[in-house]
Amino acid sequence: MIDLHLHTTASDGLCEPAALVDLAWRAGIRTMSVTDHDTVAAVSEVKRAAAASGIAFVPGIEITAVHDGRDVHVLGYFIDCEDAALAAFLQRQRDDRVRRIGAMADRLADMGKPVDRDALMEPRPGGWSIGRPLVAQALVKAGHVMTMHQAFDLLIGEGKPAYVPRCGRSPADVIDIINRAGGIASLAHPGLLRRDEMIPGMIESGLTALEAFHSEHDAATTEHYLAFADRHGILVSGGSDYHGDKERRRAAFGTIGLPPERFERLKARVHRES
Ligand code: AMP
Ligand code: MN
Ligand code: MN
Ligand code: MN
Repeated sequence: MIDLHLHTTASDGLCEPAALVDLAWRAGIRTMSVTDHDTVAAVSEVKRAAAASGIAFVPGIEITAVHDGRDVHVLGYFIDCEDAALAAFLQRQRDDRVRRIGAMADRLADMGKPVDRDALMEPRPGGWSIGRPLVAQALVKAGHVMTMHQAFDLLIGEGKPAYVPRCGRSPADVIDIINRAGGIASLAHPGLLRRDEMIPGMIESGLTALEAFHSEHDAATTEHYLAFADRHGILVSGGSDYHGDKERRRAAFGTIGLPPERFERLKARVHRES
């Protein structure tokens, strides 16, 4: 199995890098990427652990862009993690995450639903990227909601009362930074985004692929994006988007991924462009 969409504790995943590789091996995954939100902090450790386990590894990332006030997730593969422009870009993304999570904590306090701000903002290892799942956990812990899902549904999901938008860059800027770092860009889970009308513009900006295979795409959605990619002459990527928890997307881990021949086409594209 080839899984190109996975998260670790460097962002909002629950598995440490080495533990994720161990789980992946046991789930039958033999090629993997790690795609943490706005950080490559786990890449070198996952790469090392994957090599030790005999799993082929692809450096990756999931960068949040903003279009018309809505988040658009762009995956980057085969990037040079040492690229200075990429590193500076990601640092700005993470700084804005800290600002935004602080502003959400302020909103929640104003609404009479305070969370433990110090625990939320506690410094973590270098390059770690904070995100809303941590706020959701804090809301559960404080007893304001029963589940993380409820926290998103009632309070911190897009358009909900404690939601604060990010100050992000456009999809075109994000695609460009990935390409300049020697990588290829794929639009993450287009079936969750449901904004097909913006894809042709992203292709003009240098988008290489669509994530047609994803744990939350049903068969019809996968078919739709395979055909969409074909029609527009671009490639496809795929992965479970597993975050290491016991519930969400657990069943997809080891069963949803990218067919080998499609992975070969992605790889061939990188070599041609570099
Ligand atoms: P952020 O990066 O701060 O915008 O937070 C977005 C992340 O929250 C996504 O990458 C998901 O991992 C997570 N997320 C979004 N919706 C939910 C939900 N309903 N339940 C649990 N986690 C969610
Ligand atoms: Mn996430
Ligand atoms: Mn995503
Ligand atoms: Mn993801």
